[in-house]
Amino acid sequence: MTDEIKKIVIVGGGTTGWMAAASLSRYAQGKDLTITLIESPDINTVGVGEATIPNFVDFNRQLGIADADLIKATQATFKLGIEFEDWYQKGSRFFHPFAAYGAPLENVEFHQYINKLKTQGVTQDIEDYCFACVLAKKGAFAAPNEQSRNSINHYAYAYHIDAVLYARFLTQFCKERGVCHILSTVSQVTLNAQSGMIESLKLNDGQIIDGDLFIDCSGFKGVLIEGAMGVGLEEDTHWLPCDSAVAVQTELQDTPTPYTRAIAKEAGWQWCIPLQHRMGNGYIYSSKFISDEQAKESLLNSVKGRTITEVKHFKFPKGRRKVIWHKNCFALGLAAGFLEPLESLGISLIQTALAKLLTFFPDKSFNQADINEVNRLHNSELDCIIDFLLVHYKLTQRDDTAFWRHCQQLPIPQSLAHKLAVYQSQGHVVQYANESFQQASWLAMFYGFNLQPERFDARIKGLDNHLIEKNLVQLKAKLATAASQCLSHQAFINQHCKALSDV
Ligand SMILES: Cc1cc2nc3c(=O)[nH]c(=O)nc-3n(C[C@H](O)[C@H](O)[C@H](O)COP(=O)(O)OP(=O)(O)OC[C@H]3O[C@@H](n4cnc5c(N)ncnc54)[C@H](O)[C@@H]3O)c2cc1C
Repeated sequence: MTDEIKKIVIVGGGTTGWMAAASLSRYAQGKDLTITLIESPDINTVGVGEATIPNFVDFNRQLGIADADLIKATQATFKLGIEFEDWYQKGSRFFHPFAAYGAPLENVEFHQYINKLKTQGVTQDIEDYCFACVLAKKGAFAAPNEQSRNSINHYAYAYHIDAVLYARFLTQFCKERGVCHILSTVSQVTLNAQSGMIESLKLNDGQIIDGDLFIDCSGFKGVLIEGAMGVGLEEDTHWLPCDSAVAVQTELQDTPTPYTRAIAKEAGWQWCIPLQHRMGNGYIYSSKFISDEQAKESLLNSVKGRTITEVKHFKFPKGRRKVIWHKNCFALGLAAGFLEPLESLGISLIQTALAKLLTFFPDKSFNQADINEVNRLHNSELDCIIDFLLVHYKLTQRDDTAFWRHCQQLPIPQSLAHKLAVYQSQGHVVQYANESFQQASWLAMFYGFNLQPERFDARIKGLDNHLIEKNLVQLKAKLATAASQCLSHQAFINQHCKALSDV
């Protein structure tokens, strides 16, 4: 086959560029395919993006990287989920675990039993029936036994990583696998006059780099996908209320929590991401309700510990890219678009887009049907994510600031309205195709925001409540006993994967 892709050129050396290079270098093994990554020495990476979800653990394992090597190199800590504080009401909290609650009984989902008891006046805390939640409350960590899928091992975990160290780690990894690394800035893009495809890139040191497939990982600007190809933005992220962020790193004051904290504030929310050597902090906010200066002050007033970096401000793009794949240019990461980091999906979206590229890997004919399908899949994935993010704002009962009153009034897409209505009827969770969030995640929101179904699943109407309660007592005790035997998160790190130095 003469029209095979032979040269891939990646622009950008942030998390996205190096993840793309690592993944594509694995794909290139045994093929006549070269990979070149161009990184500007003059344009910084965003340097945030440190909370991940469990598919990140899988991504690195698939590259052949040992868990402990990655953790030590990136000063990583473990993440069992996200604790949400002050979202439903001030003083409230709930946990969104990477895990399911209980296990189905007689083919009916576990939460239906909790809902049945609730309608009859017996309130249970569903978090008592999820081992990841129990571990998180204790500040403990254990790795699930992946061979045994019982109620105790039914959870996953992710990492908090230092993004800069991760990019550095992958740089070494990729160079050892033959990726050519050029430190220079793309100053000009040459398009073919007939086809509109990218032919070559001119660098500011005069080099000309040609290629067959160009991967744009150049961050918010999208030097190729937007700068050269001008695909434009779909202005549809207006559903989400926040448009800005301010971030700062601080010294660690306490032992790291095995979870991310997301704390609702006056005009948005604050993240706290503990690493082995420092904390990452940031405030995501709506600039309609608070100024950049006020947001910075609010963040600095609420962080613990001495700040160790300058405060960084971010303005979010006003929408998603119309397409992420256009002709011979494929955009990934911030170049592909941005959704606020409430559920830590930025890195995951890099992975899912990369997976689509590999599945539909082109030849030089760049089949338009394949391109359309990747763009369709990506957009439907984003639609589902927007629904999930919106729930965090829409279901609040907070009315103490103009921002939260505004959130209660937010318009929502029909797809989300349907999900809420179906859950409110009988407690069933709708799952569309391309959902990033499975049933348990939706349940975490519905319980966290106290959304009460009118009825429970009729199949368990005849079941004796005492029998259900007896089962629950046993399960709760089993999980509590198992958790009491686990190491604290810090002790687990010390024993298995303590980073050797502070940098
Ligand atoms: C406030 C905030 C919080 C976030 N939190 C999370 C989180 O908790 N979890 C998560 O998963 N994601 C999060 N994200 C998203 C995450 O940060 C990004 O997905 C991730 O950092 C990838 O960034 P990137 O590599 O695409 O872009 P960047 O980090 O901006 O890197 C761009 C690269 O392109 C290079 N470049 C730019 N122009 C040129 C040029 N002309 N020539 C050559 N090179 C060029 C730069 O030098 C740089 O190397 C967050 C994002 C923001 C803004």
